[in-house]
Amino acid sequence: MKVPDFDFVVLGSGIAGLTFALQSAAHSRVLVLCKATLSETNTAYAQGGVAAVLDPNDTFEQHVQDTLEAGAGLCREMAVRFMVQEAPAAIRWLQGMAVGFDKDGSGDMALGLEGGHSHHRIVHVKDHTGRSIQQALEEAVRRHPNISVQEHQMGIELLTDTSDTGTFCYGVQVLDLHTNEVRSIQAQAVVLATGGAGQVYQYTTNPGIATGDGLAMAARAGAEIRNMEFFQFHPTALYQPNGEVFLISEALRGAGAELVLPDGSHFMHLYHSMASLAPRDIVARAVLTEMQRHNSPCLYLDVRHLPAGKVRQGFPSIYHKCATIGIDVEKHLIPIVPAAHYQCGGVKADLRGRTSIDRLYAIGEVACTGVHGQTDWPATRCWRGWCLPGVQQSM
Ligand SMILES: Cc1cc2nc3c(=O)[nH]c(=O)nc-3n(C[C@H](O)[C@H](O)[C@H](O)COP(=O)(O)OP(=O)(O)OC[C@H]3O[C@@H](n4cnc5c(N)ncnc54)[C@H](O)[C@@H]3O)c2cc1C
Repeated sequence: MKVPDFDFVVLGSGIAGLTFALQSAAHSRVLVLCKATLSETNTAYAQGGVAAVLDPNDTFEQHVQDTLEAGAGLCREMAVRFMVQEAPAAIRWLQGMAVGFDKDGSGDMALGLEGGHSHHRIVHVKDHTGRSIQQALEEAVRRHPNISVQEHQMGIELLTDTSDTGTFCYGVQVLDLHTNEVRSIQAQAVVLATGGAGQVYQYTTNPGIATGDGLAMAARAGAEIRNMEFFQFHPTALYQPNGEVFLISEALRGAGAELVLPDGSHFMHLYHSMASLAPRDIVARAVLTEMQRHNSPCLYLDVRHLPAGKVRQGFPSIYHKCATIGIDVEKHLIPIVPAAHYQCGGVKADLRGRTSIDRLYAIGEVACTGVHGQTDWPATRCWRGWCLPGVQQSM
């Protein structure tokens, strides 16, 4: 076997891939490959923000409990605890990378509220948090002498072999989308950071790159895949019968927007005590149920009661998007429908990103660590009474 070209080949240039590249490049030669431009990622479309315990009146334990509740009791608690405890340091690291999270009047981090959270803990940059994170990480990656970047390079197959201890990965086969040439790149380890598979669905908030390539490559190589039956639907994508799907961030509901029926009446209190800010799966199913009951192609978000200028200033992308299709959010209801949003399952990975194949790592949305559902199915812990067919429910 020839000497590896790089220590790490990272497939994917979203928050997962670029963070890994920056954290490992101090002592390693890293190649980042992506199949579009560096900037075309799910990450760049994220609006609302990132959850972390940063308010002295908030606690890790409360964040853990909120997450377990939102996960209907199916989350792997150890993974949730790890994520919650690491979140503040991750936010500080992003600030160190020059992500300018919004501050409140006293100079502290401005913390928003989102569905399922009992406390304000969402750090954000207006309603374009993902774009700001993407830009900051890209700039740092392009400056780093140990990181090479190659755009429009599509990973198509993992290079694997077997030894006495099992299968290992030693590189990736890549299609150059400009020249149509296929070449092999060898590395000490391959990191899948290829994001989700939202494009499998007809209506999704995900951009065109989200076609589950990393998942498919890993499956073909024999890696364990888990929980692909779990796909999160976001309750509030902008309803445009013939237009692209555009997300209306949950943070808007955190700022006071209410879900309403076609006649303007509230209904979410009938489904959950947190009403419009209930966990996302409950809201998405409630919206669909009410659409069917009213034979309506969509329901609505109402922000007309909010102070004038609040949406324009706090959610400029949403305000302007609505304006381009003739919706003045201060006067009109915003039509919404649920859309496929986040792949909860994926390549089974432990908390270090290790997969069932040696030297193959999976991080970010392509990975399934159990945060969104146990990797080894717990037949008796489903709280909401809608477990998979054939799985015994505990209540
Ligand atoms: C509209 C929208 C809003 C969201 N809002 C939020 C939010 O407010 N808060 C939150 O926490 N999350 C949010 N999410 C989810 C979050 O953005 C994603 O889960 C996260 O950004 C995924 O990051 P990632 O690095 O794993 O993958 P991505 O950011 O999706 O990056 C995937 C990368 O893989 C590359 N790739 C894919 N296939 C190949 C291949 N075959 N070869 C080479 N490269 C490949 C792509 O080119 C891309 O660079 C949102 C998602 C969307 C779509």
